[in-house]
Amino acid sequence: MPNIVVVGTQWGDEGKGKIVDLLAERADYIVRYQGGHNAGHTIIYKGDVCVLHLIPSGIFHPGKICVIGNGVVVDPAALLAEISEIERRGVSVRGSLFVSDRAHLILPYHRAIERESEKHKGARKIGTTGRGIGPAYADKVARIGIRMADLMEPKLFRDRLATNIDEMNEFLRQIFKVKGFELDAMYKEYCGHADRLRPLVTDTTVLLNDAIDRGKSLLFEGAQATHLDVDFGTYPYVTSSSASAGGACIGTGVGPTRIDAVLGVAKAYTTRVGSGPFPTELNNAQGQELQAAGREFGATTGRPRRCGWFDAVLVRTAARVNGLTGLVITKLDVLDRCREIRFCTGYRLHGMGGKIATEMPASMTALESCQPVYETLPGWLVPTTQIRTYAKLPKAARTYLEAVERAVGCPIELVSTGSKREETIERAPRAAARRRRATPVSSNRITTRAARKAAG
Ligand code: GDP
Repeated sequence: MPNIVVVGTQWGDEGKGKIVDLLAERADYIVRYQGGHNAGHTIIYKGDVCVLHLIPSGIFHPGKICVIGNGVVVDPAALLAEISEIERRGVSVRGSLFVSDRAHLILPYHRAIERESEKHKGARKIGTTGRGIGPAYADKVARIGIRMADLMEPKLFRDRLATNIDEMNEFLRQIFKVKGFELDAMYKEYCGHADRLRPLVTDTTVLLNDAIDRGKSLLFEGAQATHLDVDFGTYPYVTSSSASAGGACIGTGVGPTRIDAVLGVAKAYTTRVGSGPFPTELNNAQGQELQAAGREFGATTGRPRRCGWFDAVLVRTAARVNGLTGLVITKLDVLDRCREIRFCTGYRLHGMGGKIATEMPASMTALESCQPVYETLPGWLVPTTQIRTYAKLPKAARTYLEAVERAVGCPIELVSTGSKREETIERAPRAAARRRRATPVSSNRITTRAARKAAG
């Protein structure tokens, strides 16, 4: 298998877990490059449920190497808790899990700052997971972060921690009027963590590039999604890292010339968790139907996800900024009972004389007030979960998929019609290559024309 990056093309929860799991079978190294322990995979191992937030799911595949790259922020306590969960099931991580010595740490004061800051924001809150990920990235960029390599050197670690705790305590007490942290207790606890993590910490840039030199294949597993990316997402309702494909280079030290393909995962409709603009959101019975059929409730929080029609503007932007070579459409089965299916090809901008945007505006005001322009297609009204080949999909389903493919400008390589591995349809690679040549990502002519037509 070539070296592949898998990214979400919407606002997360696209079903990347299943696709990564499928591709992990064929890869030698499975690599996380950004985010923290806010991602989530539920793995069934020997009939037992195990939830992983930080460690790639490949850890349960014998012979695979899992890597947490330098672009990830690591909460040592959370990582050790996951390792214990895995080892409790008789799987050792020694020799199969490595953590970058350049990865930054999430420390207890990051969690406290995030929690208090969200409370302070009230209605303007971002809807973070409260795990300290944002503040850890903020420290990294402010050049006061503490890295794995620093944790491994007790004296240096203590000095850095002392300086930071002083500053953070001042901030917590003065601004948020809450108690601060105690240096000795935190130092002692984290030295204990350091001892346990030491065998896993290494220069993963060397590990990964050597692996490529030896002809091994790498699977880069993106967490969150393109529209939550700190640069390309709906800022400020984003995550603090580079979730798009470029992040795979920055977050691992593997150069762009060594990556062969980028697969974008998109649901056949759209969902979003928490705050932020969502042009195709359905605040009606149709939205509730998608929510129920797709089981769109947060895995850990149980929070209902906002649901809406597929948004080709969103996914086309993702195709461009990630340089997608292929698209994976998941949860097609969720649309099985829809009489009519709509998808958005453009946004009519408010107060601009009916101007239709076919690209994501950077302005949140424009995005919040725009009217989606839809195309409508008939539904297929038959179950698709048992179908295993593209040709056997109902004609209306193929018409929908091909319309999406044209509107996005990227060939569909896989279609998922259920949560099980075998509920996946692979399209012939040669046909996909032909389609790739015919649908360049940079071209939006088809969509622009379709949007204009739909808008009358
Ligand atoms: P991720 O964060 O992108 O990995 O997405 P999630 O882990 O939240 O995945 C969403 C859920 O959808 C999981 O429970 C999957 O088992 C499920 N899922 C994935 N693909 C499909 C599909 O094609 N059809 C259905 N019905 N469920 C799916």
